[in-house]
Amino acid sequence: MSSGRTTPTDAGRSGPGEAPTLHSIQQFTRAYEEEGRLLGYACRSCGFLTLTYLLVCPRCGTPHSLEDRLFSGGGRVLSYTLQHVPSDEFVNDAPYAYALIELDEGVRTSGWLPAVKRPEDLAVGERVVWTRSYRTGLVFERPPVAGGDGADRGTGP
Ligand SMILES: [Zn+2]
Repeated sequence: MSSGRTTPTDAGRSGPGEAPTLHSIQQFTRAYEEEGRLLGYACRSCGFLTLTYLLVCPRCGTPHSLEDRLFSGGGRVLSYTLQHVPSDEFVNDAPYAYALIELDEGVRTSGWLPAVKRPEDLAVGERVVWTRSYRTGLVFERPPVAGGDGADRGTGP
């Protein structure tokens, strides 16, 4: 699955006429827009994985050691709360689930699930996937059910 794409992070000393090295937020934007992949970071020194860009690795203390790493986006819900009182950017989404999620790579991160409105909508331990979104933060959703899982919908009275 190697895409063969390279990012200009190995550009070395920028000479005249050379494209400037992209900042992390620009790299994130490019991964998001062109590849639809979840961009995170890995420590070159100790292998620590994170989705948050940090100047110093929190595990081994090596400065400037994080390099780009693409994540699968799949994970499992470790815990979540239903937010009924949103901050301003989520004012039209409440209620929604704010969740602690362990990605398949072992990274714990937090994100939100706008489609989860009630406790019955999401179980702890349930599988979720990151989805591309223009919204603030990491948006996750329950993966589409493949092949007639026959979820019997309880119809109301
Ligand atoms: Zn490290």
